[in-house]
Amino acid sequence: MLRQAQQPVVAAQRPVVAAQRPAAAAQRPAGAAQRPAVAAQRPAVAERAWAVAASVLDPEVPVLTIEDLGVLRDVAVDGDRVTVTITPTYSGCPAMDAIRDDVVLALTAAGFADVEVRLVLAPAWTTDWMTDAGKHKLVEYGIAPPSGRAAVDGPIRLQLSVRCPRCGSLDTREIARFGSTSCKALYECRACLEPFDHFKVH
Ligand SMILES: [Zn+2]
Repeated sequence: MLRQAQQPVVAAQRPVVAAQRPAAAAQRPAGAAQRPAVAAQRPAVAERAWAVAASVLDPEVPVLTIEDLGVLRDVAVDGDRVTVTITPTYSGCPAMDAIRDDVVLALTAAGFADVEVRLVLAPAWTTDWMTDAGKHKLVEYGIAPPSGRAAVDGPIRLQLSVRCPRCGSLDTREIARFGSTSCKALYECRACLEPFDHFKVH
């Protein structure tokens, strides 16, 4: 409706992302090097550029790559120019400037001289875009990953019980809405009594 009318960019880009992502996820055996589905669609140079951009870490949770987070949306190579499309996790997320710089640095170091990073704000990033690998890394890092699923068209978030990343107990409670960063809440486990960050569903 009004929202969609204001976001023509989204409509144009969605099919591309939708077409590439499931194929890559389904057919990729392991690791970032093998992506038969994507490789078939993109030239090898674009595949290499994707791998470089995908290795950039999120400064706030440095065990997660921007691919794990679902922040990396597209990498296109046209001649000498690499255009990387990223979607910020939260509006005003201070990490985005760092991510943008890191993407440029990583690609420049890999031999791509002309790098453009585009921020696409819509569709808005959601924790649903976080990969399963990313969620597992969060748990190992001691952060409860987002549980439940963001509602697609509304303000309602379906929040499931938050599992303690240390002992696995579901007997946990939120003790502060904002943890070490605005995208995390501080929780406490009643079983092992440890506090931990929970990456909020968004
Ligand atoms: Zn616990």
